[in-house]
Amino acid sequence: MSKPRIGVTCSPLRGPAYYLPYLRAIEATGGEPVTLDPQPGGLASTQATSMIAGIDGLLVPGGWDVDPPAYGEDRQEETPDVDPPLDLTEIALVRAAVDANVPVFGICRGQQVINVALGGSLRQHIDGHDNHGHPRDLLAHAIDVVPGSELSKVTPGDRVMVNSLHHQSVKDVAPGLHVTAHSPDGVVEGIESADGMIVAVQCHPEELLSQQGWAMALFRGFVGRVADHNHNGAVATDAGKEGS
Ligand code: MN
Repeated sequence: MSKPRIGVTCSPLRGPAYYLPYLRAIEATGGEPVTLDPQPGGLASTQATSMIAGIDGLLVPGGWDVDPPAYGEDRQEETPDVDPPLDLTEIALVRAAVDANVPVFGICRGQQVINVALGGSLRQHIDGHDNHGHPRDLLAHAIDVVPGSELSKVTPGDRVMVNSLHHQSVKDVAPGLHVTAHSPDGVVEGIESADGMIVAVQCHPEELLSQQGWAMALFRGFVGRVADHNHNGAVATDAGKEGS
């Protein structure tokens, strides 16, 4: 039986090594990762629709900042590293996935891309959340998780510790999405759609798989939703069982 095919947008500017933890997390939870290349001018909606038709789920991973013109703002000095072809490609893919009812999972930049793609905006700089220079699995701050969210279904209780490798965050939440987690200083750390087909977090669960059971469960939940909703005939079998 075929495994659910999970598209992962991978920018050549970051290089393949950056994306390995995401690809491994998908494999570890029963999915088949499929890397998707950004296109220089972005994607026309018909191109995005046809790329989405070839996958069963979309993972939008971490990376550089979204170029602020994508949400109607000028780029400030505090937003130095952008990758507009990746932005345009991911924004088109997120919209096409939503239109096709294909599950979407966003991590860090991915959460920010999803919010922008659906009409939200970002804060271009926040203090206290960028722990680059420390191990990527450093548990840096708590988040308070909204009961009933997909995120809350995998966390042990409503407060968990997370890693934090970002200096931007969601500002205005896009229509159709709601906040599912905050840090104590008020930063948006999770967003979802009401039907749970879009789930995103600001932390990096792909770096926490071996130390936090909820991080693995978050991936397993996503791959499970993909298998449940897939439009290409893949079937959920033993997705994510330890030792498989
Ligand atoms: Mn954070």
